[in-house]
Amino acid sequence: MIRSDMDKAETDAKHVLNQLGSLSSYLTGMDASVERDACFHLPLDIMREAMAFDVSVLYEVSNVVDNWLILEVTRVFDPIGYRSDLREGQKLRLDLDHPEGIYINEILAFTSRQISHINVPNQGCDMMGFVYVPESLGGGYLFGGDYCGQESGVRDYEASVCEIMCNFLSTILIKTQLEQLAVYDGLTGLHNSRSIKEEVSRLCNRFTRKTEAVASIVLCDIDHFKAVNDTYGHIQGDLVLKEVGEILSASMRKDFDVAGRYGGEEFLLVLDETQRSDAFAIVERLRKKIEAHAFGKTDKAGKPIPGEFLRITLSFGIAENRADSEPCDALAWIARADTALYHSKRGGRNRVSLWNDFMDEGS
Ligand code: GH3
Ligand code: MG
Ligand code: MG
Repeated sequence: MIRSDMDKAETDAKHVLNQLGSLSSYLTGMDASVERDACFHLPLDIMREAMAFDVSVLYEVSNVVDNWLILEVTRVFDPIGYRSDLREGQKLRLDLDHPEGIYINEILAFTSRQISHINVPNQGCDMMGFVYVPESLGGGYLFGGDYCGQESGVRDYEASVCEIMCNFLSTILIKTQLEQLAVYDGLTGLHNSRSIKEEVSRLCNRFTRKTEAVASIVLCDIDHFKAVNDTYGHIQGDLVLKEVGEILSASMRKDFDVAGRYGGEEFLLVLDETQRSDAFAIVERLRKKIEAHAFGKTDKAGKPIPGEFLRITLSFGIAENRADSEPCDALAWIARADTALYHSKRGGRNRVSLWNDFMDEGS
């Protein structure tokens, strides 16, 4: 759909500067807990409302195969419905050797890594910029706007605003990816070892301030996991770890529990505001859930074998801590859970044990 009668309104520089100010403070204040997608909304709004474009769009660069650029529409803001070709999730396949037509700026922004705002006769004006994200962190994006009225061109300072927004987006996407990698385990998506230990220390610190607090931690270890690797291969082993991670994370209570990968096939659960008997009931349910779960089976090359499954069990050790007991030491607390876990292993595996003083005496 094209409007034939109107020129694109000139951008109000003062207003845009204010908007860029809010964008900058919003983006720098973001941390890993903010959804990655949240950072896309504001630039899309600014492009459409403050810069007077009809449509704003963000593409993810999915792939480059030979001379084809494959883009996926990540976000589009097109309230009037000018661009029916842009739908979220839709893939576009553009010929890099023939930059022309309505996607000319997409192609030029991608190949030059700069802002492109060439007018397409009878198609209005549009502007596109490249958002750099290294391949190792997921690859780049394209971001820009489309004006569907008379061709009036994009002014140089509007291109500069687009460039600033692309650079903001690039920085924030790299930052959130790095924060994600620093906190979460790549295979299971649970908290990594350092981060889950920090969670235990954080609870310990709270015990020194609050007199009523209680919490339990649970160390879990997959039974006979070496045999899974030896019999079916490491790819199968990794798949089991991933599925165990999914079950653990699905079983956690929001705002109370945190699950982490403590080591190779060991997991640590932190159950806040949970006393030992409640922790025991929660973990016993979890133990039964895992025991009953049919784990997907793969061949040694990692190809799923339909209709075939594996059974896996875990052993658990629980240790409670209270604000009114002795001063809290995170490592000593984890060591108690480990002693209880050892007790479960020695008792025959696929069981839950609660730590008590008796165990420390080496029974
Ligand atoms: P137990 O019931 O006593 O815990 O026996 P186990 O075989 O589970 O324990 P053991 O400590 O002998 O072996 C643990 C195995 O876990 C050995 C190691 O190769 C495997 N493992 C650790 N991390 C990973 C991983 O990231 N991927 C895979 N596939 N295997 C792993
Ligand atoms: Mg182990
Ligand atoms: Mg094990």
